Amino acid sequence: MKKIIIIWLLAILYSSFSFAAQTRVNGVRIRTSSENTRLVFDTSHIPEHKIFQLKNPARLIIDFNNTKLAGKLKLPRNSSPLIKRLRTAKRGKNNLRVVFDLQKNISPKSFVLKATKKTSARLVIDLKSKNSKTKIVKSSTRKIKPFIVAVDAGHGGKDPGARGASGTLEKTVVFQIAQKLTKIINKNPNMQAFMVRKGDYFISLKERSKIARRKNADLFISIHADAFSSPKASGASVFTLSRGGATSEAARWLASHENAADLMGGIKLNDKDDVLASVLLDLSQSASQNISQLVAKEVLANFGKIGKLHSKTVQKAGFRVLKSPDVPSILVETAYISNPAEERRLKSRKYQYKLANAINKGVVSYAKKHIIAFNTTVKLASHKIARGDTLLGIALKYGVSLDQLKKANTIARNNKIKVGQLLTIPL
Ligand SMILES: [Zn+2]
Repeated sequence: MKKIIIIWLLAILYSSFSFAAQTRVNGVRIRTSSENTRLVFDTSHIPEHKIFQLKNPARLIIDFNNTKLAGKLKLPRNSSPLIKRLRTAKRGKNNLRVVFDLQKNISPKSFVLKATKKTSARLVIDLKSKNSKTKIVKSSTRKIKPFIVAVDAGHGGKDPGARGASGTLEKTVVFQIAQKLTKIINKNPNMQAFMVRKGDYFISLKERSKIARRKNADLFISIHADAFSSPKASGASVFTLSRGGATSEAARWLASHENAADLMGGIKLNDKDDVLASVLLDLSQSASQNISQLVAKEVLANFGKIGKLHSKTVQKAGFRVLKSPDVPSILVETAYISNPAEERRLKSRKYQYKLANAINKGVVSYAKKHIIAFNTTVKLASHKIARGDTLLGIALKYGVSLDQLKKANTIARNNKIKVGQLLTIPL
């Protein structure tokens, strides 16, 4: 008996598209860089297909359904040191199998592109060496930005924040923690962090969220240290915005139509009546609030691993700094600076690192669970903008968030979209 052992089934991707018409594979192109080998199949339609890998010997297999070859598929000369051979075979009446014999095991990632006026439909497969450092976002899903985190050190300048018994200032220790957090986050190739306050100066709370929005932050983290009249109060807490606070802020946002239009993904709020406008704003806000809540939970869980928690659940409050409808935001109170033991700890580099690490871990575990940019495989479709389309409408149609849609595309600051423009839809 012939024993066929499938040792490693790395990835099976089913295309969600199917067409009655038979797909033709017109050719394959191979592009090689130091980090990646990219296979591009030019096809007549988006092909219905399945991709998987077999080990020993290493092979990449693409099964196309209802597909035939337009001509013989040839491996370009010196295409890639990774690829030894290309074979094709008919499977059944209508199906096609393409096999690449490889030098070593790889991590394939794929996506499809619809035909445009200038190009045919394509199936793109990126082959990364298993042992090469994977930089998922940068190479294979170039259109998807890294996850951007605005790190906000509370207070600053003339506003020192809380003061510890031995004179430690909140603005100083939270700045040091924020610097460490920024450094840690920036080591992650999928993420990018920046400091909202870059030195010891005063910034208004409104200005802080403005900076975060200007830099397209996906998440805003404000770092503080708590104080209380009793020196016994201790432990960390994590806050998100309360509904009550959000609602009155929504009302304030609405007062400024220009701001609101800027936020609402192309929907001009002043064109609509106030009730509809408030519904739309609420929608975008509850999406960011859900995200805030999820991140807050992850960060709190990680704080719980390194020290005492002041409250075991995520707290809600109406902090002005969190009231940015389109950027999910959390506020962390790292410890009580008014508690002498915690004041000492807050000053220690080692503890500052622990806190920064805990926040980072919380953000990463949130991002891994919820952010598409962290998926190893990303499937994309496209949408051509028709008259009357809005970003939010498109997002709702495809069941993606406004944020995911914006992230997958380069969308101007003013959220302007043009009729005929092709948007990538992350699926
Ligand atoms: Zn504070």
